[in-house]
Amino acid sequence: MINVLMFGPPGSGKGTQSVTLAKKYNMLHLSTGDMLRAELAAGTELGRKMAAIMSAGELVPDEVVIAMIAQKIDSTTGKTGFIFDGFPRTVEQADALQNMLKERGMKIDLMLVLDVNDTELMDRMKKRALVSGRADDADEAVINNRIAVYRAKTEPVIDYGRRAKVSRTVEGIGSIDDIFVRLCRHIETII
Ligand code: AMP
Repeated sequence: MINVLMFGPPGSGKGTQSVTLAKKYNMLHLSTGDMLRAELAAGTELGRKMAAIMSAGELVPDEVVIAMIAQKIDSTTGKTGFIFDGFPRTVEQADALQNMLKERGMKIDLMLVLDVNDTELMDRMKKRALVSGRADDADEAVINNRIAVYRAKTEPVIDYGRRAKVSRTVEGIGSIDDIFVRLCRHIETII
């Protein structure tokens, strides 16, 4: 099983690219954002509790997403590996993931970091807001907060990947197809 972390700020294209990469390599795409939005849509107690945090662009508690990921890892069969999208978002989540994988005889094999500047991010998120229906895409202050939270809490996880010698920065500007090819090149080195 191979484990790939898809990294980058909100709007950098993690979700779009993860979906096609997962298909191509028969991996399971694990997006904690999608899982949380599914809870919200289903009106579960967890979803109701997390709604305000998400619409403010803040991070939900580490233990919530860690439990979601553990459950998915343990219930998956027949896949070549996992693509983690939007997780880990804190150093604590990265530690938890590393331990979780170690206990199951796996490791983080690759961390792909999509590099996109803030002006481009803001532009993409505003466009996405027109189609996504996401409350956290619609408000400029919330978008700014999500980018700030990324820089403060999530970017330190990249150092974690650098120390483990698994991080690779990928130019995240260009056509979706060109970026996909760049990402595939890195994945091909580990399969
Ligand atoms: P995303 O779809 O990845 O942009 O996530 C949407 C929102 O869900 C984030 O702004 C957070 O409120 C929450 N979220 C998603 N993944 C995580 C995570 N790994 N840790 C904490 N909060 C998360």
